[in-house]
Amino acid sequence: MVNARAKRLLLVALMVISILSIEVAMPAYAIYSTYTYDSTGWWLWLPLATVAIAAAVVVLPWCQFIPWFVRPMVPMAMIVAAGHAHGALSACASAAILLAAYVLIRQWLNRGSMGQEAIEITPPLAAGVYFVGQGGGSSDVNHHFRNESQRFALDILRLNRLTMRAWGFFPRQLGRYAIYGAQVLCPVDGIVTAAVDGLAEIGPLAQRDFAHIEGNHIVIQCAGRTDTFVGLAHLLPGSVQVRVGDTVCMGQPLARVGNSGNTTEPHLHIHAKRGGEPDCMLDGCGVPLRIRGRFLMRNDLFRGLSRRER
Ligand SMILES: [Zn+2]
Repeated sequence: MVNARAKRLLLVALMVISILSIEVAMPAYAIYSTYTYDSTGWWLWLPLATVAIAAAVVVLPWCQFIPWFVRPMVPMAMIVAAGHAHGALSACASAAILLAAYVLIRQWLNRGSMGQEAIEITPPLAAGVYFVGQGGGSSDVNHHFRNESQRFALDILRLNRLTMRAWGFFPRQLGRYAIYGAQVLCPVDGIVTAAVDGLAEIGPLAQRDFAHIEGNHIVIQCAGRTDTFVGLAHLLPGSVQVRVGDTVCMGQPLARVGNSGNTTEPHLHIHAKRGGEPDCMLDGCGVPLRIRGRFLMRNDLFRGLSRRER
């Protein structure tokens, strides 16, 4: 047992060190190199450093180890450093390359959703600022992508006052995760086809429940689209407020966010599927979701549903 615990600690430490070094060292080196290379070479180094920063801004999970608010500051620092070292032209070039690289990298990482019809949903959570931990149209930014029914699933976290997803890197208490206990709201009008409650909760990074990977969950058949379903997973035990057969509407409270099933920490998993059994979340074919008209991917923020919108 001691060995297993030591191995896990070592793995977590290695993960923290590697992510910290990528998140901090790479952008810092890019800014430093842009700033210090002599002015004859800036046109060569600037695009490389700028594309590296754009990729880091898009791909790395920002609120895990570094507060989310640092994310827009990194490209801004790059533009300021380029301008300070080599003048206004390089600052403008840097800004233009950053913007173009950001847009193109996003498009590339969402390539799997191109040409797919999406389902429009309302935010499945109440007031607050939420963050997409896993989401997007490729396995580079969305670990669900390889699974057919969960292809376009989102794992949603909440940002706290420090714009982190939790107080601490991997706190042991569930209550230290900002989204824990948040109210889950109905994202579509429809009929409840599955409502499972009573499965035990697990601690953060504890032994996951592989026998019930969705944990406590709800599936809703979309009104007007009988072959399309939206599922919400990892809910708090005892919090599910609906039953199979209930008619539900957008904004209606359904449950609370917990940590049941195959999960490492409290978050809301949501995905839409077409076909399969009405009471099952894990079959059928994944369908992209849009929240307030946006197809969301890793690192994107959205606001919860305000009282006025309900
Ligand atoms: Zn998930």
